[in-house]
Amino acid sequence: MTDYRFVILGGGMVAGYAAKELVEQGLKRGELGIVSSDTALPYERPPLSKGFLAGKEDEASTLINDAGFYQSHGIDVHLGIEIDRLDPTTKRLHARTGEEFSYEKLLAATGARVRTLRLPGADLDDLFYLRSLDDSKRIRAAAAQAEQAAVVGAGFIGMEVASVLAEKGVKTTMLFPEERVWQRFFTPEMSAFFERYYEGHGVSLLRGQSLKAFEGDGKLSAVVVESGQRLPVQMAVAGIGVAPATELFQSAGVAVENGVVTNEYLETSVHDIYAAGDVASYWDVLYKKRRRVEHWDNAVEQGKHAARLLAGQRAPFVHVPYFFSDVFDLSYEFWGDVDGSDQVIYRGDVSRGAFSVWWLRDERTIAAFVMNRPDEERELAPQLIAEQQPLPKALLAEAHTGRS
Ligand SMILES: Cc1cc2nc3c(=O)[nH]c(=O)nc-3n(C[C@H](O)[C@H](O)[C@H](O)COP(=O)(O)OP(=O)(O)OC[C@H]3O[C@@H](n4cnc5c(N)ncnc54)[C@H](O)[C@@H]3O)c2cc1C
Repeated sequence: MTDYRFVILGGGMVAGYAAKELVEQGLKRGELGIVSSDTALPYERPPLSKGFLAGKEDEASTLINDAGFYQSHGIDVHLGIEIDRLDPTTKRLHARTGEEFSYEKLLAATGARVRTLRLPGADLDDLFYLRSLDDSKRIRAAAAQAEQAAVVGAGFIGMEVASVLAEKGVKTTMLFPEERVWQRFFTPEMSAFFERYYEGHGVSLLRGQSLKAFEGDGKLSAVVVESGQRLPVQMAVAGIGVAPATELFQSAGVAVENGVVTNEYLETSVHDIYAAGDVASYWDVLYKKRRRVEHWDNAVEQGKHAARLLAGQRAPFVHVPYFFSDVFDLSYEFWGDVDGSDQVIYRGDVSRGAFSVWWLRDERTIAAFVMNRPDEERELAPQLIAEQQPLPKALLAEAHTGRS
């Protein structure tokens, strides 16, 4: 049994940033243990579908803190250990392989796991999912050999992976059941722009198509869609969403509902257990609703906030949700939550890929998307949303309305 004052369960992005912040808060040697089923020290995940996947960044550059950081601050990182039981009464974590850890305060940071396809042939080699560094390495290696690839799903991960594969010269088809790319989030104008951009960069789109099967003899050789169309491919990557890794907490009696439920202080229903990052369903005081965010900024900010909570500074987490994405040579950012919007306003030129989109409810700004626009708009977006302000007249002057 190893005893700690603080244990972070999960060695991902939350763990990396929480450890950094705990050190800033005066952490003493031996007080913190991180327990992770992953094989690598906490790393940034965004490069796994961008620079690292493209072969432009190396493994060391993805680390949130280097190995020396943990050593010099006396932080134990237990890698390759999967916890399968939590006992909140004795405050102990039990690993499948027999190790035990005790905590005074626990931070639940188990993140999310990819959803997988249950279809004939789904067990063939060269059908990939992307969550970990090891996944990204495998996809990178396969892409170096493949001539044709299918990307299943046209959300965040699907769009990023398809752009990297196409840039590597792999003939890529993105197929998805919706009528247009990232239908759940993009407006029709935004989808239309990205679809043109992808097709212009050599990606074929198969809209409104569900997968029927994967074919191959041990190795993948084709994907078959419901219409019967058969695409010869040497690899496929499915980006069909993730589910929060909550089983452990649920069986320990911690309240779970689409994530580990917390209040605005990231406190769970069980005393001395906090949750942060992809696994946490927290009370968002800005929008007055429960929210679970699967994005980088949330993991960073909640990781840091949770560290301060562990260190005894009790304050609510108040933050405008944010994410960014890079596809081909485009970078965009998004703030807020479009739910309940009654008006959408565009600035700039959608057809040229230099535009911003502003979602309003009762004339107040609730969300914004900004790509290739002046910094002023980037700076204004989170501010207007946090303060629930209308769009300033100067911004409205050059704006036009569109469909939500
Ligand atoms: C490929 C990829 C690209 C991304 N790109 C972007 C982007 O461009 N922009 C953006 O905003 N967001 C992006 N994200 C999202 C962002 O990376 C995540 O929101 C973030 O990683 C969440 O951090 P986390 O610490 O909550 O979970 P994770 O980083 O997933 O860490 C969870 C950790 O818990 C461990 N674990 C789970 N269960 C157990 C257990 N039972 N026992 C022990 N350990 C356990 C796992 O091994 C892992 O180490 C991307 C995600 C991926 C996968």
